[in-house]
Amino acid sequence: MKKTNLDQWISELEGIPELTREKLEALQLRRLNALLARARESKLHYETLPEKLDSLAQLRELPFTTADMIARQPGRYLLTSQSEVARVISGATSGTTGPAKRVFYTERDTEHTVGLFMAGISEMARPGEKVYIGMPFSGPFGLGDLIAKAVERLRAVPIRAGIGLTWGQQKELMEAERPENFIGFPVPLLGLARFCGDGFPLRRALVSGDACPAGVMAELERLFPVYPHYGSREMGLGGAVTCPAHEGMHLRENHVLAEIVDERGAPLPDGQWGELVITTIGLEAMPLIRYRTGDRARFLAEPCPCGGVTRRLDRVSRLDPGAVDMEEWDSRLFRLPQLVDYHAARSETGFRIRAAVTGEIGAREIRNALGIDAEITVSVCHKDDKPFYPAKRYVQ
Ligand SMILES: [Zn+2]
Repeated sequence: MKKTNLDQWISELEGIPELTREKLEALQLRRLNALLARARESKLHYETLPEKLDSLAQLRELPFTTADMIARQPGRYLLTSQSEVARVISGATSGTTGPAKRVFYTERDTEHTVGLFMAGISEMARPGEKVYIGMPFSGPFGLGDLIAKAVERLRAVPIRAGIGLTWGQQKELMEAERPENFIGFPVPLLGLARFCGDGFPLRRALVSGDACPAGVMAELERLFPVYPHYGSREMGLGGAVTCPAHEGMHLRENHVLAEIVDERGAPLPDGQWGELVITTIGLEAMPLIRYRTGDRARFLAEPCPCGGVTRRLDRVSRLDPGAVDMEEWDSRLFRLPQLVDYHAARSETGFRIRAAVTGEIGAREIRNALGIDAEITVSVCHKDDKPFYPAKRYVQ
């Protein structure tokens, strides 16, 4: 089996011809110590941390950084001058509940992200093919823009669909362009495939941006091979990519150190589920040290069948779904082949669900699939409707 293209990218970018675990970890320690030295010099948030560690294992002795801390004082984490900042992303990250955060990138940070995207996308799309991009286009150096850049550099053709189109507009675009590949959110992709019905042109899909519920993944994999990716703003938008083995996501370990910890913050061994904690040693503008992502993940303990050196994350979901685990609801409800989309909200008596379907299904089937009582309205999905959630899904 061909090795992951991520290894190849790291080898070239870092000038390490034969990438091994030892060489990668030596690079990580060097980069971590360089970050600690910069942090100390900055006189900002991390200035009291030790200036140098003797081993990567000592990282776990450093304190955590949380989303709240960054939301309160984003400027305390910016290690470059404002003039070097090419892009700022602000706003809540998950639904409406996350705190508003600002994350800064330099042009070099975004260039590395394009490189990572090229490594990940090249496992799927071939030169000359079309790639439908159902991710937000929010200007230069935004997510959609960086993905389109990566697609173009791979000599494939980006179709900049974005996330604001109606079901009908998306269907027209699919029929007019007939793209072989897709990059976007998993649940809206399944809805689109169902809305379009026979003749849906996609052959492969890269899903990211939100958790991919197990039941939705199973439905998608009946249609075409699926390449899950994981990233977050704090790690520079791109973080981990699928390799030819399709078993977990290889982490961009030249730029990101990752740990899994339990609720008390104690480190967990590979194979165990816990919270993903990242140290972004490769970021120039806003590197974070032991940032608690609020995402639930685990490392796959065995080496990958592809022979890659970088470690792999298993599927990533949200750590604390609150009273309602919408991923679980998605898994149950999207087993119904007629379901295109649904919106879920709390009501005075419990929950209210609005379902959009292709036809031939009523509230009773939806209630049975969900397994709890809820106020349910069902309507046939109209071409002028938009997906209920343009990005991350949550119960309102
Ligand atoms: Zn692999």
